[in-house]
Amino acid sequence: MVTTTPLEEELSRLAGAVPDPELPAVTLEELGVLRGVHVLGPGRVRVELTPTYTGCPGIEAMASDVERVLHEHGMADVAVVTVLSPAWTTDDITEEGRRKLAEFGIAPPRPQKADGPVPLTLAIRCPHCGSTDTELLSRFSSTACKALRRCVTCREPFDHFKEL
Ligand SMILES: [Zn+2]
Repeated sequence: MVTTTPLEEELSRLAGAVPDPELPAVTLEELGVLRGVHVLGPGRVRVELTPTYTGCPGIEAMASDVERVLHEHGMADVAVVTVLSPAWTTDDITEEGRRKLAEFGIAPPRPQKADGPVPLTLAIRCPHCGSTDTELLSRFSSTACKALRRCVTCREPFDHFKEL
């Protein structure tokens, strides 16, 4: 994200602190969907958001939440635009975001861009007991971006935020 002025930094903080409509434990900043905030003139700002999964309808709710927050901060003219490139991947979720997902009972996506070709073989860890002995129940859970798994050790089902 490129921010140039103190006002843009402040507005980025405000927009970034907006909770994800579907996963209120995680902010837009932590989700990695806030791409840029540009002040175009007095009271005029353009916010760039990138959508997550096409199956997740969250982007419109995110846009109106960001608009509201910036309106409240004196920005009369807030334009939220969707940026498709570079595409969002689950690697854009911050460390803090991953920690919060796990705290929320959702196994975070495994990192994909780590060095070496092996990361995807990493086991998915049960967010309840930490066991890596888990099995897939359904490729789709409450939303298309999550899969439903069950822990073999503690028998608890949990959502896994799928890698993208
Ligand atoms: Zn478990």
